[in-house]
Amino acid sequence: MGKDKFEEWNEFWKASIQSMDVKIDYLDQVGRTVIATKSIKKGELIFKEKSLVTVTHLVSSCDYCLQTLPSQSITCEQCKQEVYCSKECQTAAWKEYHEWQCQQKCNLASLKQMARTSKTSSGLHGLLAIRLFSKMQQNKWNLLQDWKDLQSKCITQDLHSNQLLFDHYFQTWLLCRNAMQLPDAYPYFDLSFLVHVLGLFGGNCFGIPHASPTNGPPIAASSLGNVSAFINHSCCDYNAYNKFKGNEIQCFSLKDIAQGEPILYTYVNPSLPFVERAKALQQYGFVCDCRTCKAKT
Ligand SMILES: [Zn+2]
Ligand SMILES: [Zn+2]
Ligand SMILES: [Zn+2]
Repeated sequence: MGKDKFEEWNEFWKASIQSMDVKIDYLDQVGRTVIATKSIKKGELIFKEKSLVTVTHLVSSCDYCLQTLPSQSITCEQCKQEVYCSKECQTAAWKEYHEWQCQQKCNLASLKQMARTSKTSSGLHGLLAIRLFSKMQQNKWNLLQDWKDLQSKCITQDLHSNQLLFDHYFQTWLLCRNAMQLPDAYPYFDLSFLVHVLGLFGGNCFGIPHASPTNGPPIAASSLGNVSAFINHSCCDYNAYNKFKGNEIQCFSLKDIAQGEPILYTYVNPSLPFVERAKALQQYGFVCDCRTCKAKT
């Protein structure tokens, strides 16, 4: 995606962000990056945004807003697979994506079950892909081509040569195809599209940790933000972190940040030694060249 295309996208993202202390910029060297537009004090809320897609496999959480379900929860009467905390969440979900899923008789339950029991993120990534795809279908987004462009920008060449990741995507694609019950010749939802979409999720989603981890996987939900997905990584110069309130993503500063500075997260545990950090970063499809990684420390 060229810079002009990026400008168009920027308008789209801006509409969703609830604080303008940041902007998304495009630098030739690093691609998209999130920049502070004013000086920010340590501990401040930098911005918050409603996620583009957030899904959970927890039976105790509302499928739309992720809040804990009250005793009087509401189940979708038709498919019996989605549960909501309120009529408002049910209506919003129906309008945004669930009408299509329900008509399509998507097997969401099997993916949730898989996400609950398996150690891989295929189940959650599958649910995310179906949610995003349903949103596109239902709202007649004229953006499919743009998404393809965006996705191709999001993943690096390396991803295709990363057999482990590719296998993961392929498995997830199979799961999605089965769950969505699409005809074989269905346009758009082909392997290359999904690999791009999954590349986006794998590299840009935030796992929301389980509040009380039991035997299951530690990640109870996964979320893709519009702005937070563009925050880059550094093992040593990270200056912000995010928190979730339902499906709202909140970004806080860890130190004073000057106007014009990039907002940076650390995607991995920064106290790990270089080799282990590099291994953990493989799933994001890039090689970190921060100061500590350059020094291999
Ligand atoms: Zn809800
Ligand atoms: Zn339903
Ligand atoms: Zn690094």
